Amino acid sequence: MNLLEMRIKGFKSFAKNTTLNLNSNIVSIVGPNGSGKSNIVDAIRWLLGEQSSKQIRISEKADVIFSGSEKFPPAKKAEVFLKIKDDNGKIRTIGKILTADGKIQYKIDNRNARLKDIFEVIGGAGVGKSFYSIISQDQVRELVSASSDQLRVIIEDAAGIKTYLNKKEIALKM
Ligand code: ATP
Ligand code: MG
Repeated sequence: MNLLEMRIKGFKSFAKNTTLNLNSNIVSIVGPNGSGKSNIVDAIRWLLGEQSSKQIRISEKADVIFSGSEKFPPAKKAEVFLKIKDDNGKIRTIGKILTADGKIQYKIDNRNARLKDIFEVIGGAGVGKSFYSIISQDQVRELVSASSDQLRVIIEDAAGIKTYLNKKEIALKM
């Protein structure tokens, strides 16, 4: 899967409709502290259904909606759209919208969809539950300072064998 383009509007610090071209093997985002670099990664995690508020650095669901500034009034909704090329070369646009009344709507190519359908589109891109394709600074620190036992747990989890280990443990107890 390739990320081609992203559109953010009303999400965190993105007051105005912002389009980012991601169609390159390497994309660098540079800017001063607090200018919204990490908010872009938060937007991708949020769109892909991240359930942990800590991961997207919010305390409440509505915190992702732009809260207003001197120049711009608060947004009525947060929108994130991601244009991707899937593993079959098909171009799709997936999106998520949160309105001030707390309603969430997922979109695929402008049609209403469920998070489940979004997962189907992104398939095995490894951006599922554990998000091993998005590595945060914290995770790098964790990896570098992990003991060999902790490293093994992380690797087993990333490789997707943890479920089988859990099943084995249950079976052995029976
Ligand atoms: P650093 O270089 O320090 O990591 P950064 O470029 O990653 O900075 P972010 O953490 O992405 O910066 O952005 C933080 C900014 O986003 C803060 O100024 C914060 O006020 C703003 N922000 C976060 N949520 C909202 C919101 N709901 N409405 C308005 N602004 C928001
Ligand atoms: Mg940052």
